[in-house]
Amino acid sequence: MSATMTPEFQAKDYKSDLKPIWCPGCGDYSVVQGIYRALAAIGRPPHEIAFISGIGCSSRIPGYTTAYGFNTVHGRALPIAQGIKLANPDLLVLAAGGDGDGFSIGGGHIAHLIRRNIDITYIVMDNQIYGLTKGQLSPTSQKGRVTCTSRYGSLEEPVNPLLYVLAYGAGFVAQASPTDLVGMASIIEEAIRYPGFAFVNIQSPCVTYGEEAQQIKGLKAISASLKDLGHDPSDRLAAMDPAQHYGQKMHLGVFYRNPEPPPTYDAMLRERQAELSKGAPSRDRILDLFIKK
Ligand code: SF4
Repeated sequence: MSATMTPEFQAKDYKSDLKPIWCPGCGDYSVVQGIYRALAAIGRPPHEIAFISGIGCSSRIPGYTTAYGFNTVHGRALPIAQGIKLANPDLLVLAAGGDGDGFSIGGGHIAHLIRRNIDITYIVMDNQIYGLTKGQLSPTSQKGRVTCTSRYGSLEEPVNPLLYVLAYGAGFVAQASPTDLVGMASIIEEAIRYPGFAFVNIQSPCVTYGEEAQQIKGLKAISASLKDLGHDPSDRLAAMDPAQHYGQKMHLGVFYRNPEPPPTYDAMLRERQAELSKGAPSRDRILDLFIKK
């Protein structure tokens, strides 16, 4: 596209008429802006996009876009997103939710999506708390955190989403934050363009139940760009090093991008279907077998 040409789709084309009801200042407002920008850069029309979520504040996000959306049940965004992608591989499929939805209630699903390598981009808005249900301890809450369900401080270590998905072999792993909206939009775009399963953890502040250290000012103070640190995103083992500092340091950028993406499950399934249907009797011939003469 030349510099004078207008892109076919602009960020506003992905914005629905539904007014977000997040608390004023919630980090998810920035995340949805980042998603609009990334989708405009990709340029697929909204009717070719399916956006699936679970339950939680962040899971409201598909409704704020013009894509096809399905706000499913708690923790079940990923199985439904997989079914949609396999039923219609031509759709661009996004899944989104919070840290509780992805790593507690739905925690068992991500491992299977990663090993299948289905071409889905999964965006987790990680705020280390259950916001929608008024501030309970979540799977990524830091040890010692005082909430309404941990009055004397949590005794549990948090789940580390970055190490979790790297260890299971995800082909694309990145982290972003509303502290850098332009960077976040470009990371989401890169994740969508990756041909296979892609995971983006977004440190999205909960202004109502989050701690001060997890607000924009606190996050800025612990943020570091992986690019500026000279990190090589093609090295999975090297990615483990910054990833292990989750919770103490907020590394932004691409931790890992498989330089040789393997075939996706959806592509292999299509290939197998084509192979098995070669020389197969026609549908009418099969139906004939069940019709009594
Ligand atoms: Fe956002 Fe927290 Fe309000 Fe939920 S409770 S909308 S996460 S600020």
